[in-house]
Amino acid sequence: MTLELDRLNRTYGSIRAVADVTLELPAGPTLALLGPSGSGKSTLLRLVAGLEAPDSGRIRLAGREITSVSPQKRGFGMAFQDHALFPHLNVEDNIAFGLVERRWPAAARAARVKELLELTGLPGIGKRRVHELSGGQQQRVALARALALNPRILLLDEPLSSLDRELREHLKREMADLFARLELTVIHVTHDQSEAFALADDLAILRDGHLVQHGPAAALLARPRDPWTARFLGYRNVYDAGADGRPGPVLLDDGRVGLEPGEGATVTHVAREGLEFTLELALDGWDSPLFWSGHVRELHATPAPGDTFSLRIPEHAWIPLS
Ligand code: ADP
Ligand code: MG
Repeated sequence: MTLELDRLNRTYGSIRAVADVTLELPAGPTLALLGPSGSGKSTLLRLVAGLEAPDSGRIRLAGREITSVSPQKRGFGMAFQDHALFPHLNVEDNIAFGLVERRWPAAARAARVKELLELTGLPGIGKRRVHELSGGQQQRVALARALALNPRILLLDEPLSSLDRELREHLKREMADLFARLELTVIHVTHDQSEAFALADDLAILRDGHLVQHGPAAALLARPRDPWTARFLGYRNVYDAGADGRPGPVLLDDGRVGLEPGEGATVTHVAREGLEFTLELALDGWDSPLFWSGHVRELHATPAPGDTFSLRIPEHAWIPLS
C-alpha cells in the first residue's frame, strides 16, 4: 500500500510551510519525518492526514488519489500533540471513540478496547479518568486510540516530546517493538535525531518546507547530502572550505579517526562525560578544529589542553558533501 506525495505545497501568507515535497513511501518501514522546529513537519503530516488541504499537489494511496478524501475515510490512525485526549471521558471511552463513531456493537467495542489496553501496556486502567493518568500513560492511551480501527498507516506528531527523558527512552523501545509486531506503516514526526534513529528505518529530512534528503537511516548517516544535513544529523567535523588539503565541503567522521602519541594535533579543549572524552584539536594547516570523541582507554592517559597527538585518518573517514 504505497503512499505517494506528489509535489505538495502549502503556504501560509508568505511562508512556504511545505514546498514541493515529493515522497514515495512503500508499506512497512517506519519513516521519521525529521527537521528543526518550523521546518514544516506538522503541516506535511496534516496534509497526509487530510486535516488540511494542499494548495497544489496530489496524494495517492495504492495508486488511488486521496487528496480530497476526508480524514475519516483515509483510514489512517493519528496521535498528534494538538489532538489531546478528551478530558471528560475515561480511558476506555477515549480509546473507543472511533469505534463508537463507526457504530461498533458494545461487546465488540469492549473486546477491542481490552485488546488495545493490553497491547499498549495499560491493562486495568480503562475506567480511570484521563486527568488521573501520568504523561506516559496518556501517551499510551493516545496511541491505543490511534490504533483502534486497525489503521493502514499511523501518523504520529512528536508523540514523546512532552515526556521526561527516562520515560521517553522506555516508550521509544516499546513503540519500536509494537510497530514491528503490527507491521504498520508509521510516519513519525520528530525534531530529535536520536528518537528518529531509535524508531525509524527511513528518514526524510525537512528544511524550510523542502525535502532535503530521504532514504534508509544508515545510508543518510553514511552519506549526508550537504553541510547543513551533516550538521543536523550530529556531525561536528564539517569543513565547508575543505581540510587537510581536500576540497570542501567535506565531512570527517571522527568515529573513524585514531589518535596516537605524537605531533600535529594540539588539544585546545577537553570535555568529559564519565569515561568518554571529547577533545577539541587544533591542527597544523587546518582552518577549523577537529572534534574527537572516544573512551579514555583509546587515549592511554587523561588528556589536557596543550597535549599533542598525531592523527590516523583512514581514507574512508572522509565523506565528500555537495
Ligand atoms: P514544524 O512542525 O516542523 O515545527 P510547522 O509545520 O508547524 O513546522 O510549521 C511550518 C511553518 O508554517 C512555520 O513557519 C509555521 O509558523 C507556519 N505555520 C504552520 N501552521 C500555520 C498556520 N495554521 N497559520 C500560519 N502559519 C502556520
Ligand atoms: Mg510540529
